[in-house]
Amino acid sequence: MSRFLSDDLNRLLPYVPGEQPREAITLKLNTNEHPYGPSPHVLEAIGAAVNEDLRLYPDPLALGLRTAIAACQGVAIDQVFVGNGSDEVLAHVFRALFQRPGALLVPDITYSFYRTYAALFDVPLHVVPLAEDFSVSVDDYVGPHAQPVAGILLANPNAPTGIALEPAQIAAILRANPDVPVVIDEAYVDFSPHHAVPLLARHDNLVIVHTLSKSRALAGLRVGYALAGKAIVEGLDRVKNSFNSYPLDRLAQAGAIAALQDEDWFARSCTAIIETREALASRLREMGFEVLPSHTNFLFVRHPGHDAAALAAGLRQRGILVRHFTQARIAQFLRISIGRPEDSNLLCAALSTLVGAPD
Ligand code: PMP
Repeated sequence: MSRFLSDDLNRLLPYVPGEQPREAITLKLNTNEHPYGPSPHVLEAIGAAVNEDLRLYPDPLALGLRTAIAACQGVAIDQVFVGNGSDEVLAHVFRALFQRPGALLVPDITYSFYRTYAALFDVPLHVVPLAEDFSVSVDDYVGPHAQPVAGILLANPNAPTGIALEPAQIAAILRANPDVPVVIDEAYVDFSPHHAVPLLARHDNLVIVHTLSKSRALAGLRVGYALAGKAIVEGLDRVKNSFNSYPLDRLAQAGAIAALQDEDWFARSCTAIIETREALASRLREMGFEVLPSHTNFLFVRHPGHDAAALAAGLRQRGILVRHFTQARIAQFLRISIGRPEDSNLLCAALSTLVGAPD
């Protein structure tokens, strides 16, 4: 609090990311980071970019990176907008698209940064409860809407539930809201069978947000992007160029290009994580946990006989970090990032002592 700050800022509740512990932690399963290092080509490309050219500003248009993204996703270069992590891309999306008359529709349980950005950018929210089974109720977004809608923002697969809508359901939302920007945050989409990119050709109200933090193992490099029609990308560029011309430095652009070009590493590591996820889900179910169906690199689980906060604390004592949210509807859940198979073994051994079930 300071009298030099506005009342709005004094009241602003910032997003709280998962803990990055300073003490030795055996196993970090709390922020959905990738358990394997990035493609070796990324390290080579960043190494090669460490040279005297660092005295020069990076390409403000990030053309090389946007070309690589366009090739990877099968879209045109002028349909690609890049930013310093998808969090920054989302900030520019809020500024460019949602400051319109009406409210922004978001689920009650979703990525909590959306609420922070809504407060920061003065965007009124219309919060729509998820269904009983924690899936997004498509009808609530199809309308007719009781009040003007400024935009629709869905994480798909949703976080922290892990549950995904089918492309046909996203298409129904797009069709029913042709004059409303519909933003689909696909941070975890590479661990799921479907993505919304094919819908871009038919829907000029669609914006898709991706990140290299999860499936490309580059959370530390800070690279995210949006795919949309050319006119929306131009608007996002105008916002970005009114804020920071160079959000992606030379090393980030070089590393991200190499990551997107290593299809072999990408396919192998996504498959490994999906297999580990499915194996861990069955083991947790055998221990009595309810495990929501996940299309991501994490599981959202609860145990009918054990308090989630107590389980998280018990795991922490054993050097294992998982994420626990205090929001009432999900306070009995733990979000557990998928690690390596040996990480699942450590986790299951610790959980089986805590819940008193054989591992
Ligand atoms: N969207 C969702 C749904 C997320 O869970 C995250 C990660 N916390 C992000 C966006 C942001 O990822 P990044 O800024 O690392 O690209």
